[in-house]
This record gives sequence, structure tokens and C-alpha cells, in this order.
Amino acid sequence: MIKFSEKQPLVFTIADRCKTCYTCIRECPAKAISMQNGQANVIVERCIGCGNCVKVCTRKAKSFFNEEQQVLHLLKTKKDCIACVAPAFPAEFKEFEDHRIVVGMLKKLGFDKVVEVSFGADLVAMRYEELLLSDDHKKYISSDCPAIVSYINKYYPQLTRSLDPIVSPLMAIVRVIKELYGKERETVFIGPCVAKKNESDDPDYVLTFQEIRNMFETENIKSEDCEPVEFDPPLGGRGAAFPISRGLINTINIEENLIQGNIIVAEGRENFKEAINEFDNGYIDDHNLELLCCEGCIMGPGMYSEGKRYENRAYITRYVRRKLDNINVQEWENYINRFSSINLDRSFSQDDSRVKVPSEEEIEALYHKMGKHDKQDRLDCHACGYESCREHAIAVLRGLAEIDMCLPYTLDKLNTMVSELNIKNIKLESVQQALKQSEKLAHLGQLAAGIAHEINNPLGVVIMYSNIMLDEINPNDEAYEDLKLITEQAMRCKNIVSGLLNFARKNKVKFTSVNIADFINNCLKAVIIPANIEVEQKNYLSNFSTAIDEEQMTQAITNILKNAIEAMPEGGKLYIELNNEKENVKIIIKDTGTGITDDHKDKLFTPFFTTKEFGKGTGLGLPTSYGIIKMHKGKINVDSNCNPKKGKVGTKFTITLPQLNES
Ligand code: ADP
Ligand code: MG
Repeated sequence: MIKFSEKQPLVFTIADRCKTCYTCIRECPAKAISMQNGQANVIVERCIGCGNCVKVCTRKAKSFFNEEQQVLHLLKTKKDCIACVAPAFPAEFKEFEDHRIVVGMLKKLGFDKVVEVSFGADLVAMRYEELLLSDDHKKYISSDCPAIVSYINKYYPQLTRSLDPIVSPLMAIVRVIKELYGKERETVFIGPCVAKKNESDDPDYVLTFQEIRNMFETENIKSEDCEPVEFDPPLGGRGAAFPISRGLINTINIEENLIQGNIIVAEGRENFKEAINEFDNGYIDDHNLELLCCEGCIMGPGMYSEGKRYENRAYITRYVRRKLDNINVQEWENYINRFSSINLDRSFSQDDSRVKVPSEEEIEALYHKMGKHDKQDRLDCHACGYESCREHAIAVLRGLAEIDMCLPYTLDKLNTMVSELNIKNIKLESVQQALKQSEKLAHLGQLAAGIAHEINNPLGVVIMYSNIMLDEINPNDEAYEDLKLITEQAMRCKNIVSGLLNFARKNKVKFTSVNIADFINNCLKAVIIPANIEVEQKNYLSNFSTAIDEEQMTQAITNILKNAIEAMPEGGKLYIELNNEKENVKIIIKDTGTGITDDHKDKLFTPFFTTKEFGKGTGLGLPTSYGIIKMHKGKINVDSNCNPKKGKVGTKFTITLPQLNES
């Protein structure tokens, strides 16, 4: 028998194909699959080899140990190998009405003899009957399904002693063959079962129907080239019904209620576990259990042709009927008598693979970590592949599962992530907008600085000479007024040019520590406030000191103050508030002026944007202020309403500056 290990597992995952669907976890009766980074892995020491995961994985990401090459090699080197064909074969080879074709193909492949396992089933059933009718009142669990045997030894070792101590039909036929045909003969089982590969040292090799079909293909064995040949003796009897539900009972040739009524049959991964659990708890321990891991061997994972359960069953019963109609009873009885005393004893050993259940505190703590604070949060939705939230939590604590496998938890996490992303997106958008704005400003600044620099010198000459001429000319001269206009307009140009130079200034900020309240008072003094404007100042500062470039910041604040005043030609109120917010100082400048339309709001900081009449505005005030505030790593925000229907009209500029220390 091959020793399966981590290096050479019976059932394993093909990593590239596995896509987090948890189906294998759901279907694994032994919970022998762990999840790591979204990849399912078979845990060798927990695996009972049932092959359920192989059967259910639609991506074909699970496979099992393949013995095709070894057997092909064997057949080529040894001439006297014997094939033992499982009684499930009529459900596999549905395409051949005559079962003898299959035998013919196997012989062509190189087998010397082809024997039915069903004769072994006949012998086992008889021994089982004796056991059940014996005087000891012990109750038994059938041991013909190797996955069930493995499950009990691993997870209910206290029930190992309840396994019926009889070999499986396959092991029985191998013992018969060795006696009949010689001990040195190599034996190869061919059937629907993966777990058989791990059952015993007899036979020498185990092939699934899938593997034998592959071998037919590689060796180019076609049914039409093969002679129909009958199975080699000993031919099986009712044992041919073994692979279907209640097969074992049906094989026992009695109808007595004594036995029938005493056996509970359970098959399929859910049912067999339930039956074992109830047996262990003493609810049904006055019954014998006939258990199959699959829904009958006819649905085993090694079947190549998928087939429906009842269709498969029908193929078996038809075959059995035909067989029993044509059986040579005398010959069968002769063989039965000949082998009736063959040793069919078997013993089992425990293979305790149970792991400690984590404490209730640990489970509770994990529930909380997953946001399952209350009972109603534990939905037992099965999406993770486990039967309940509790089972999942236990698996997580044992390192077999991941928290993310919980669908409600993952959805919650995704929802939070989506809203966080939305917030980040909004932030990103505003940062992008600000970036665009500053890029625009930077380009314009460069252009403006270039032009202003070029114009500044000739303009200086114009101003100087027009002023000299103005000094020298008689004010009564008719050219005097013209000359005065030239001087004035040249001065205006100079203002614009210096505004441009200010806006485009690349010089560094020169921080000095100031008292921000005094600083604001000085700014107010630098602007002319008409009499019809009332000024209100509020100072909520707790920390007055901050480091700024006083000269530049004066310019920024006076620009904003001037705008506020210019927005209130009919008079109004200028409100100035100072306060601290975290590590910042906030300067709020509010007016009751005209307000700004939404349309204009977007353009406020664009150079040369002005709504003021020709000659009054340059459109450089706010862009300059913006540049200065940014250089201080500060922020400037505008709130404005120009619609009296929507509330008080006016504009509020909020300047936030980090409260730095002088450095
Ligand atoms: P200018 O004052 O030379 O027009 P600014 O850059 O200082 O240039 O201002 C640009 C425009 O922003 C102004 O023309 C005006 O339309 C608008 N604005 C600025 N501040 C205010 C305010 N407090 N109230 C109303 N409009 C304002
Ligand atoms: Mg202005």
C-alpha cells in the first residue's frame, strides 16, 4: 500500500485552478480542507480520501494520486496480473450492453485474469450475517467503505471497536484469488473509489474507472477490436448488488426482520455523519449501521461517466437480475463452499485526529472581531462552507479557515471600504482641482513676471520724464492737462505692473513671529474704510502668536479687505473674527456686500478676473492673496450668497494659517 504523506498526498489541490468558492470545504465531511490566502489545501492527516472534493470541484482543481503509469509498466513487464473489477462497473460502462466486452478490453490491455469483486461481497455478506446473528449483543458499524473506516478511526476513535471486524469485499476477493491463482500474482483493483487507494496492502494497485479509461485511450484499446470474454471464476452472485444503497443487506440472503429491522442505512456525507453522531450518543446504539460515504459506490468520485443516481442504480439492478437468471448455482455454491473458511478477519486501529475545541471565550472574542456581536448576527448562512458561524469560528481559531470567508463580514468590510473610497475620491477631486488651479497660476505667473519685468523699466522712464515735464510746464499751458493725464495713466500702469510682479513673485516667505491681532489691526489701518461701513471685530484667540511673512500677508489680507469694502458701495458691515482651531489660526472676513454668483465663484482666483468697471479692478487681488496664503501652507475658503431669497446677502472669506513658530 502506498503511504500517503504531505509529499505524496492521496487527494490534493491544483493551485492555479482553485478559485475561492468554498465548495470543497462545504462538501468535505472531515473538514480536511484549509484556506490560506484564498487557496484551498487538503490537510493530509485529516483527509479520509472520500474524493468528495474531487467530485464537486467544477474547476477541476482537486485531483487524486494516479497509478496509471505504474500499472501500465506492470502489465508490460508481468504477464500474470489479475484485475479485480468492482461491482459498480455496469453503471460505469453503460455503453456496452454485454459486460463481456469490458472483460475483453481489460484482457487486451494485458491482464491475465479479470475477476469480479462481487464474489468477495458474497463471502463478506455471509460473514456479516453470521456476525449479526451471533449471540453477543454487540452492535456493529459496517467496515466495507474505506472512507467511513478512516472517518471513524480519526474522528470517533471510541467507535473503532464497533467497526465490524470483517475484510472488505475487495480484500476478500484478493485473498480468494491468491489462493486460487497463486500468491505471487499482482492484483489491481478497478472501481469507482478513491479511498480504496488507502485501504490496505491488498490489492497491489488501485485504479479508478477514470484511470482505466485513460489507459484504454493511451494504449488505443477499442471495444470493436476486443472479443467478448466472460469474467474469470469465481463468479459473483448477489454480491453484485453491493454498490447500491442497502447493498450489504440485500446481499445477505435472508428476509428476516431480525436483521433487516436492526440495521440503519445511511449514505452520503451528511447522513453518515448524523448516524455516527447519534450512534455515539447512544440514541441508536441498539442498531447496526450500514454506512456509505458516497450515495452508494455507484456515485463514487472515480466514476468517469457522471450518470444519474437512479439511472446508475438501474444499470446495476438490471445486471444483477440478468446475472442471477443465468447463474450456475451449483458452480457458485462450490466456490462458496471452497472458500467458506477463508480468513476474513480484520482489525482496526485508532488514528485519533481530533483537535482541541477552542474555549468559549476565544470563540466569543472572534465573533466580536467579525462584528457578530449578537446571536442574530450569526446567520449560519453556510456561505463560508461551514455548517454554522460557530464551526467557521472554530476553524479560524484552528488556523484552517480565514475570517474573510464569511460573506456578511466581507460585504460589511466592502461597504465600509466603498464609502471610505468615496470620501477619498471626493478629497482627491478637490486636491486635483487645487492642483490645476495652482498650475494655471504658475504658468500665468511666469508669463506675467516676464512681461511686467520688460515693461517696468520703460514705464519708469515714461513716469520720470512726464513728472519732470509736469514740474517744468506752466499749469496754464494747454498741454498741462494732457501731460497730467499721461502721468496719471502711466502711474496706473505702474500699479498694474507691480500687482503682476507681486502675483508672480517667486521669492521665499520670510517668517517672523507676530501677534496676529495686532497684525490684523495694522492691515485695517492700511485700507481706507468709508464712513458708511461699520467695522466689527471679534477676537477669540487663545494663542496670539504665529509666524508669518508680515509684508506679504499684509498684502493678502488688505486685498481681501479692499474687496469687501468695494462690495459694499452703499455701506454695510465689515466683520472680522479671529480664533484658533487645533494648530491653526483662523481669520474670518465677512461683508454684507453684493455677494458672488456661483458662476463667478469658480473664477475668483483666476488672474485678471474682475467684475469691476474698466480702470477700477485688475483681477489680481485674489490670485495674489491665494498665492501668498498657499506659500504659508494655509487655506482660503469663500462662502457667499448673492440671492436675498436664500438669506442674508454677503461674502465670507475664511483664511486658515498654520500656527507656526518662527524658524
Ligand atoms: P479686483 O478686485 O481687482 O476685481 P480681485 O481678484 O481682488 O480683483 O477680485 C476678483 C473679483 O472677485 C472681483 O472683481 C469681485 O467680482 C469678486 N469679489 C472679490 N471679493 C468680493 C467680495 N467680498 N464681495 C463680492 N465680490 C467679490
Ligand atoms: Mg481686489
